[in-house]
Amino acid sequence: MPAGNDLSGSRRSGTTKKNAHCSFCRKNYRDVGPLVEGPGDVYICGDCIELCQSILEQEQRRRGPSKQLFNKILTPREIVSRMDEYVIGQDSAKKVLAVAVHNHYKRLSHGWENDGEIEIDKSNVMLVGPTGSGKTLLARTLARTLNVPFAIGDATTLTEAGYVGEDVENLLLKLLHAADFDVEAAQRGIIYIDEIDKIGKTSNNVSITRDVSGEGVQQAMLKMLEGTVANVPPQGGRKHPEQQYIQIDTTNILFICGGTFVGIDDIIRKRLGERTIGFGSSEGFREEGEMGEILPQVISDDILEFGLIPELVGRLPVTTALAPLGMDGLMQVLSEPKNALVRQFQTLFEMESCELKFTEGALQSIARTALEKGTGARGLRSIMEQVMLDIMYDLPDRANGSTVLIDENIVSSAIDPASFQMPESKSA
Ligand code: ADP
Repeated sequence: MPAGNDLSGSRRSGTTKKNAHCSFCRKNYRDVGPLVEGPGDVYICGDCIELCQSILEQEQRRRGPSKQLFNKILTPREIVSRMDEYVIGQDSAKKVLAVAVHNHYKRLSHGWENDGEIEIDKSNVMLVGPTGSGKTLLARTLARTLNVPFAIGDATTLTEAGYVGEDVENLLLKLLHAADFDVEAAQRGIIYIDEIDKIGKTSNNVSITRDVSGEGVQQAMLKMLEGTVANVPPQGGRKHPEQQYIQIDTTNILFICGGTFVGIDDIIRKRLGERTIGFGSSEGFREEGEMGEILPQVISDDILEFGLIPELVGRLPVTTALAPLGMDGLMQVLSEPKNALVRQFQTLFEMESCELKFTEGALQSIARTALEKGTGARGLRSIMEQVMLDIMYDLPDRANGSTVLIDENIVSSAIDPASFQMPESKSA
């Protein structure tokens, strides 16, 4: 349909004006396709109609009839039971998070209803725990449970890029993307910032290997954590003067920061004094068991001692720790969560009408290998992929109804490929 279509029927119709162009984006109809004509040589193209539509929808959402944020705020107990479906162990972290998050959203919804009369305190959370213990998983599961937008950032990338302010705002852009550009939804989302310990001052920080002007980044993050109206460039990247910004108020965004804080156990031990020193003299015990005992005793002072600036620590008032996962924990991670690795592979097998089973010994062997790697549950996937590669390669060629049983031998030969043997298929 060329330019000149008449919406009312009373205006000029059927005449395509040469050089007719969209009055909004100025593009010619040859470039943008059909134009809709309004009175007085005014035209609009399909792209601009779509844009107007989304602007109007956003405005409607902003003014929406109900400013009620949530129909029902889940109780801490309900939040924990949802997290239990996906996250193994870490009971104290779950409890602390559930209470903090419940209070945060309760205050938020009351504050909303009372037109800001009730002051909303932020309860941003600091998670301390080794790699692969479930910090990111907890934050992600929490956002899913509460049905709020979620974004993940990494404090070290903020450090490495030169333009600190922009990068901090890019975190907000990620959240906005997750919220489908619904600014109001983004403003009550959750942002998880990983590796917060890597931007500590170098003096007390045993994990950092170079000074990357950590304090500058901490200062930039402070503003965002305490609440500011940030100008977010919708396309990301560097700001330039002509660009239009989306303003995001970070006051009600819940920030969860996580870090491994390598060496913080020594700080905790020192604070607790002699009575815990010497607890578990054997190295193996010290690695897991003792860490599991020491870490949960972490308090804000230890994080200060570790090297984060007091203002930042002050804006993360809730501190909790995750324990390293031992053999039992890793075995559970393999098969118990809703989307456990074992279940995922079993589903892939079902798609080929085959059955997949693991012996207890096989799961133990996979868990042991992950434990040796020292990357917690994070290491499980790559080990599992390694174990399953050749079997998955062979899977579509197997007879329908066959069963594959993975035992300890198959696991060890997959980890040591020289002795690999294809498992027997049993027809059902
Ligand atoms: P962290 O952020 O502590 O380094 P992640 O949460 O990213 O660790 O964990 C990596 C992966 O390991 C997760 O995606 C999940 O599959 C698994 N995982 C880690 N901890 C747990 C846990 N406690 N329960 C279930 N799965 C876990």
